[in-house]
Amino acid sequence: MRHPFACFTLALTGCCVAARGQSAPPAPAPLTAIRAGTLIDGTSDAPRKNQLIFVRGERIEKVADAAEKIPAGAKVIDLSSATVLPGLIDSHTHIFLWGEDPAKGGYDANILKAGIALRAARATAAARRALEQGFTTLRDVETEGAGYGDVEIKQAIEEGTIPGPRIFGATRAISTTGGYNLEGYAPELEMPKGAQIVDGPVEARKAARQQLEHGADWIKVYMTHRSWVDKQGNLVSQPTLTVEELKAIVDETHGWQKKVACHAYNGIGMQRALDGGCDSIEHGLEMTDAQIAQMARQGTWYCPTLAPYYGDWAPADTPAGKRDRARAAVHEITFKKALKAHLKIVYGTDMGGIPWSEPIAQEFARMVGLGMAPMDAIQSATSRAAEMLDMKGEIGVIAAGAYAEVIAVSGDPLKDVGELERVRFVMHDGSVFKNEIAK
Ligand SMILES: [Zn+2]
Repeated sequence: MRHPFACFTLALTGCCVAARGQSAPPAPAPLTAIRAGTLIDGTSDAPRKNQLIFVRGERIEKVADAAEKIPAGAKVIDLSSATVLPGLIDSHTHIFLWGEDPAKGGYDANILKAGIALRAARATAAARRALEQGFTTLRDVETEGAGYGDVEIKQAIEEGTIPGPRIFGATRAISTTGGYNLEGYAPELEMPKGAQIVDGPVEARKAARQQLEHGADWIKVYMTHRSWVDKQGNLVSQPTLTVEELKAIVDETHGWQKKVACHAYNGIGMQRALDGGCDSIEHGLEMTDAQIAQMARQGTWYCPTLAPYYGDWAPADTPAGKRDRARAAVHEITFKKALKAHLKIVYGTDMGGIPWSEPIAQEFARMVGLGMAPMDAIQSATSRAAEMLDMKGEIGVIAAGAYAEVIAVSGDPLKDVGELERVRFVMHDGSVFKNEIAK
């Protein structure tokens, strides 16, 4: 189907060029010069003072010292009293979740009671929230029962219908029978599921093909599902896909030159995720030294999402409360071990699991609180995430040739990483989206 259409388009283009004849080439897009008092460029170890960022169209043309002459006619954005950074990247979000209040029915109500239009409206608001807070790119790792809605929200953003960040969508996600909500209903009922359910390598491959066909940029799989504390007080998580099932998905996805994100807490499911060749471990609450060494060897990305495991703990004397405390306790240990082993860590929040009304930048304080250097934490949300997304040099960096994704804060995020919760200026693809600070 592609080829005939492509030829048709080409033929049309040819016709228009011929009709225009010798007309002059289009004028270059206007130039904007941003004065950055302090620049954290996303890749350098140290900030630089008094820089000039030249933006033409949607790209950065060059970065120079403040002494560089600004051409006449260029628009100047003065951020000389601010700290300027690349647009931030959240590598684990759910725009189709709304931080559902358990008292109001929680996750299940979102699927059973909210229609697709309501969910799309909320996802639209979530996308806008992200951009307002300086997150110019999201890897959105499944729609939780909203089908291919992420692909369409992304389309609406790209065509300019709604404001929002650059989205890498995972569409429906994949798990197994007994491996995803909705559950706990009468067994006679066929309940809808928040992920695509497969059993066996053939179904697993088919699900990956369907999702890739319909526009998935990433494939998301669940390698563990329920978690609880055993009699010895250890965290246990239920494994879902087998290594064979995961290998079928990874093989198919890599063939399309796309990657697989694996939700995995610990134990058997974590081991299968690594043996099956997943590209990123999501959450990774508890990893053995051998598993961390395997990740380092295989170059697996680690997206820890610390923040969601610190809120909303059930009462301490209940099974759920014990589980909640055990999860946070092992997570801290694993994160510190991952830092020490220099694993490739990317910034992820699980927003959507966390209400979108909360600051998306809250994960920075968690990471830094557990020993990550602030610059490292910033790079996990800029250049390092860009590398995982195969966008190295294009996003997550302020340098010539990159998309003009530029944000600014008033204070110094290297002294107080909480500054990133107060983003005052946002430029997305060369257009100013928010400005509370520049003259
Ligand atoms: Zn998630």
